[in-house]
Amino acid sequence: MKKIKGNTPKGLTYDDVLLVPQYSDIRSRSEVSMATTLDVAYAEVPLRLPIIASPMDTVSEDKMGVAMWEEGALAVVHRYNTINQQLDMMDRIIVGAQSNAAAAIGTSGDYLERATALYGVGVRILCVDVAHGHHILMKEALHELRGHLGDSIHIMAGNVATLEGYNDLVDWGADSVRCNIGGGSICSTRIQTGHGVPGLQTVLDCAASDRQIPIIADGGIRNAGDIVKALAAGADFVMLGSLLAGTDETPGDVITTRDGKFKSYRGMASRDAQIEWRGKTSSLEGIATTIPCKGSVRDVLRDLERGIRSGLSYSGARTIKELQEKALFVRQTSSGQLESSTHILKR
Ligand code: IMP
Repeated sequence: MKKIKGNTPKGLTYDDVLLVPQYSDIRSRSEVSMATTLDVAYAEVPLRLPIIASPMDTVSEDKMGVAMWEEGALAVVHRYNTINQQLDMMDRIIVGAQSNAAAAIGTSGDYLERATALYGVGVRILCVDVAHGHHILMKEALHELRGHLGDSIHIMAGNVATLEGYNDLVDWGADSVRCNIGGGSICSTRIQTGHGVPGLQTVLDCAASDRQIPIIADGGIRNAGDIVKALAAGADFVMLGSLLAGTDETPGDVITTRDGKFKSYRGMASRDAQIEWRGKTSSLEGIATTIPCKGSVRDVLRDLERGIRSGLSYSGARTIKELQEKALFVRQTSSGQLESSTHILKR
């Protein structure tokens, strides 16, 4: 008999819940602030939006880095390149926006050399970016990074699916943790390996920790409503891939077809990505697809911002902290889910 974790196993994700509207004395959505900070080398870096672009080769390179920073958000430049290519991109972000640029590294191979070189060009936010972050290689990498670079950098690490994973990464030296395994829109980890925890559940579980470092809800976030739910559940930031894919600022060519213009969006563990970056494949845990072109990421962010502001005001909250204190979730049935989507055509 295999054991089931916990007495009452829960596996909630975004569509399973709604936030209960509450009394609000907010007269205008402009009273709502999503402002937040990221601790970087003893300084609190202010951000206007709690949004981070994923370290993926179809999402975050220098153009995304500049645009996100200028909009008060952040992008993590991916690591599927040579050290020099990544340094050039970081250089362009730092020069282009005078910004706190963030860059991804791994836990093996050239990761230490890469981290040191990135630090050398002024990068102060590193993201230790692996699929299964609750792992001995993560522990060793965090130890090495702290040994080499001390506390002068912000280290984002992940991904984890459990409170234990979150706590361990904090104790091993992470300054923020990416939470959710297997929930990404292009992710096939759960199909391929049978492992994962529904994304909102991971955020709820990690938010119960007595450690107090930022939780980044990563993967499976499809709209502003999901962002509001993630923040209400205890996330400090959300990390977005598909929502930002297809924008002008993403890398890659526009593909023109009879059906319109598209850009590529692919998981970093997809066959396409693995062949391109490693020349071979191992476990395939992602897929490649195309996404209709969306115009500038700045407009996408503005749309999301409007939705998030509105979301906070429905809970009567002026800040993310207030939202987390006031939020009241209700579970919905499959009929509720149907009612919650636009459904006139289904009648
Ligand atoms: P999305 O916002 O739902 O599209 O998910 C983006 C997230 O998926 C990223 O931030 C990563 O955490 C995750 N991810 C990226 N590539 C892969 C992959 O190939 N397999 C599984 N997860 C992936």
